[in-house]
Amino acid sequence: MTSKMPKIHELSEALTNQIAAGEVIERPASVVKELVENSIDAGASRIRIDFMDAGLKQIVVQDNGTGIARDQIDLAFTRHATSKINNERDLFNVSTLGFRGEALASISAVAHVEMITAAADEIGTKAVFVGGNKKTEEDAAARKGTKITVKDLFLNTPARLKYLRSPRTEMMKIVDIVNRISLGYPQISFTLSNAGKVLLRTPGNGNLAQTVANVYGRHIAEKMIPFKNADSDFQVSGLMSRPELTRSTRNFISILLNGRYIRNFRLNTAIMEGYGSKLTARHYPVVVVAIKVDPLLVDVNVHPTKQEVRLSKEKELSRLITAAISDNLISHPEQSDAFANL
Ligand code: ADP
Ligand code: MG
Repeated sequence: MTSKMPKIHELSEALTNQIAAGEVIERPASVVKELVENSIDAGASRIRIDFMDAGLKQIVVQDNGTGIARDQIDLAFTRHATSKINNERDLFNVSTLGFRGEALASISAVAHVEMITAAADEIGTKAVFVGGNKKTEEDAAARKGTKITVKDLFLNTPARLKYLRSPRTEMMKIVDIVNRISLGYPQISFTLSNAGKVLLRTPGNGNLAQTVANVYGRHIAEKMIPFKNADSDFQVSGLMSRPELTRSTRNFISILLNGRYIRNFRLNTAIMEGYGSKLTARHYPVVVVAIKVDPLLVDVNVHPTKQEVRLSKEKELSRLITAAISDNLISHPEQSDAFANL
């Protein structure tokens, strides 16, 4: 039996962007994550995030970073176009949160995106992208920085809409990602609001204990103690709850690798091992651990969302974390001092 051989053809850019969006932009919280990461990479010291209807109606992220020069805007929305890496060597030495050049192209493939941006010494530009195509571009009064408004997310991809959870769950995912990112960057002031109602505001003064107090509440921050440890490859520091303060989920453990919030089962286990028998079953601590490492020891090019990374010397790092925590519990049998300088 002969069957007609199907013809091979290249997919249109609009379609490839939608395919990429399927990986990078799973839900409203993914949009927030990507936009906030871009603001951080742009050197912002202040980032405001507002959303409406769990981010489906609108997400606005505004920063005071470098802005984008007008002649770069089209490239910013082109897939695989980035200012962050140049060559293969850079790919294994990534010091920014982004590098894939996919987020803006992906978001604009599944939403209506308006960008107002101004680089230093330039008049601002307002550009609108819909379905991956630029619709308008005009002058706009703007201070240095970038404001991106994403509307009607997934309106053109109803299948994606169908798989979202309840508005409340989607909203909590936005809150969670902004919480974690702000814990990784205590030197940046974050404001998160829901239709103008402020949910989180961090001081941006570099003080982790104050940031924790804003994220989790003062009653939790007061019960946390600082820890640190280092070897020739890693510097580990952060705040940990005393064993009498526990939660019923692991969600209050945040691992920040060079500022990037990552999920890592082994490092989570290393933290739990540091507490050892001081925690009873199904009780989890509140821990923020910041790990500084040479980017050469980290491969972030593992997953499109970059929340999973491949780490060289993971065992050594695990031991370092476990020791930092268990030693700290021995040397701080009572009372917290994280708040001594609040
Ligand atoms: P990536 O972050 O991986 O480079 P994106 O699609 O997220 O890819 O962004 C593309 C490019 O647009 C970035 O490399 C950066 O040069 C520019 N850009 C995006 N957002 C901002 C921002 N808020 N401020 C300044 N430049 C930005
Ligand atoms: Mg990016």
